[in-house]
Amino acid sequence: MTRTTATQPAPPPTAAAAFDPYRWRADFPALAQEIHGRPLVYLDNAATTHKPRPVIDAVQRYYERDNANVHRGVHTLSVRATERYEGARAAVRRFINAPDSREVVFVRGATEAINLVAQSYGRTHVGSGDEILITGMEHHSNIVPWQMLCEQTGAVLRVAPLNDDGEVLLDEYERLLTSRTRIVALTHVSNALGTVNPVIEMARLARHAGAAVLVDGAQAVPHQPVDVRALGCDFYVFSAHKTFGPMGTGVLWGRAELLDRMSPYQGGGEMIRSVTFEKTVYAEPPARFEAGTPNVAGAVGLGAAIDYLDHVGRCAIAAYERELLAYATERVQAVPGVRLIGTAREKASILSFVMEGIHAHDVGTVLDQMGIAIRSGHHCAQPVMQRFGVPATCRASLALYNTREDIDTLVYALARTREVLG
Ligand code: PMP
Repeated sequence: MTRTTATQPAPPPTAAAAFDPYRWRADFPALAQEIHGRPLVYLDNAATTHKPRPVIDAVQRYYERDNANVHRGVHTLSVRATERYEGARAAVRRFINAPDSREVVFVRGATEAINLVAQSYGRTHVGSGDEILITGMEHHSNIVPWQMLCEQTGAVLRVAPLNDDGEVLLDEYERLLTSRTRIVALTHVSNALGTVNPVIEMARLARHAGAAVLVDGAQAVPHQPVDVRALGCDFYVFSAHKTFGPMGTGVLWGRAELLDRMSPYQGGGEMIRSVTFEKTVYAEPPARFEAGTPNVAGAVGLGAAIDYLDHVGRCAIAAYERELLAYATERVQAVPGVRLIGTAREKASILSFVMEGIHAHDVGTVLDQMGIAIRSGHHCAQPVMQRFGVPATCRASLALYNTREDIDTLVYALARTREVLG
């Protein structure tokens, strides 16, 4: 304990020490339930996060008061719905420090955003013999759209390999960047390993090689401040549902110079300036990429989630989660028979592990009986499983409302699992 005197004030608490997860936890109604007679311990935040009361209320209020189609009507509800929708776009711009709201495109989620870039930017900028470079830790949604583009164009997919800790081998990455590399697509934070990639450096190298850079931020935005200008990328994507917002909404941010030159991904209403049977003139971005009636309630909910994160404090969340992950790492790896998969120096919010002699699904099933929700499986990252020679891992993933008590319960339950199944 630190001793202080009247003339020597106590040092200010660190951001992490001052953070009170119990205060924020109370805002999440879904967390206050019992599963199989035990209090829910929710550690599957990388799959989706729960929603705080202000987000639930914002979506409900939208449907109760403002529901209308956007951009079309002159009546009051339509004007209000449009204001809410465009207000959410402005909130996203601030959230990722984008230069302009016009660069923020609402989509269904990270998956749709990547497919949009692959099919729109990719189809015009990638040709036969060109190369697309990804990393060995990508989620399937940052692999398959590029494979499809390669099939369509005759381009070649290259993959930067990982070391045994689950970090990209930067020398290899640099070697794989050639004058044929048109697109580099990499995750900010790995959903299977927790690795935080050195995106600033990797984007700098890629752009120096003349490639456009897409960053998959699905696992980054809920956990740390993100500044797309500082990252130096061309596209940044994420899903609302993993960041305390609703399902079915996500964001593609793209640099205006690129979006301006891109053709539409889908055709329909909203994305046109004029239509005749002879010729259609497309709208400017972002409308050009938002064909059809958008998920207005989803955008409104995302806007509320962003306000909520700002209120909690994104730097404070990052500091708190860093400390909680360090605590969880130390405690979980001390359980007999546990081996961590993913031991990068820079990690965020994710603890993947295997238990010797017990299948990950069995661990998940036993933990569920004790009220604990973790994920077991390949986490839509089968190449990562292949790289580490395991069929599946158990994954505990953290959010701002998790506590040391949650980790202690997990550790106790893992030890019990070993007794029951080991
Ligand atoms: N990228 C990463 C790193 C992810 O973790 C996920 C979701 N697990 C996705 C992309 C895809 O997100 P969505 O399913 O919301 O489109």
